[in-house]
Amino acid sequence: MAKKNVPKNTQMKPADEECEKECSSCPTASTCASAKGGVAGLPPKADLDVKHVIIVLSGKGGVGKSTVSVNLAYALSNHGKKVGLLDLDMHGPNIPKMLGIEEHKLAMMDNKIEPVHVTGMLSVMSMAFLLPDTSTPVIWRGPMKMAAIQQFLSEVNWGPLDYLVVDLPPGTGDEALTIAQLAPNVRGAVIVTTPQDVATLDARKSAKFIEKLGLPVIGVIENMSGMLCPHCGVEIDLFGKGGGKKIAEELNIPFLGAIPIDIEMRKAGDEGRPFIIRRGDSPTWKSVDAVMESLIKVVEG
Ligand code: ADP
Repeated sequence: MAKKNVPKNTQMKPADEECEKECSSCPTASTCASAKGGVAGLPPKADLDVKHVIIVLSGKGGVGKSTVSVNLAYALSNHGKKVGLLDLDMHGPNIPKMLGIEEHKLAMMDNKIEPVHVTGMLSVMSMAFLLPDTSTPVIWRGPMKMAAIQQFLSEVNWGPLDYLVVDLPPGTGDEALTIAQLAPNVRGAVIVTTPQDVATLDARKSAKFIEKLGLPVIGVIENMSGMLCPHCGVEIDLFGKGGGKKIAEELNIPFLGAIPIDIEMRKAGDEGRPFIIRRGDSPTWKSVDAVMESLIKVVEG
């Protein structure tokens, strides 16, 4: 099979091709009379062989959404699931760094882009692989992002997947709308929040946004929920505890579990070795595993 490198920054279709489809990035396009062609001028659902697409969302940045996405995807793959991890945080694609694969070059095989195979059970695709270096900003309008997402779904050689975990940028932007419209079998969204009021307020907004997209909220994950002092083992409520559970109860959506602040978790992200591949004897490891089990229960019944 012919395998050739994909030159960086040249794979995406030109913006002008996509500008024709500006309507497709508008939240009201499906009901707007002036939307161009088809269903709001949208391309059809991507031809992707996946059982469950899971969107990971947060109301605000820095709550650990990408960390949770990486560990959840890895945990699912350790559990025997074939998993794809799609990093759609176009403006801050950190997942390759967290997996220690940021230097990876993409390759083409049989006219498809080969994702990065982290293990035999976990493949990753990220905007970061298309940028010339880690300090290059992505300055794209909605239609260009939509074209990129379409290619990430249709032109990447994912193979058959049990789960595609999609890490979205924080907030309620274009990327979530696009993935909801283009990906098949979207089971819903997981909302990551920290326990304090400012974060849970934004998490509520995310839940409402997902509802407006016509998708279910699979559940809420409370990250950075309390902290065990690494010296004396006493629990410190740095950001408080229970805020995520409270909003899940209020909104009548499942609570998938709480993950504490753990220095090892932060180190793992910085070192490019996901926390979940460490020995499973710490309370934090068990909490991540429990979140994964809850997710499977909600999604697969
Ligand atoms: P987001 O994707 O929401 O912007 P990140 O996943 O990039 O957030 O996490 C922000 C920072 O917090 C990273 O340095 C990450 O390692 C750290 N972090 C995330 N969750 C935890 C946790 N449970 N314990 C310790 N550090 C964490």
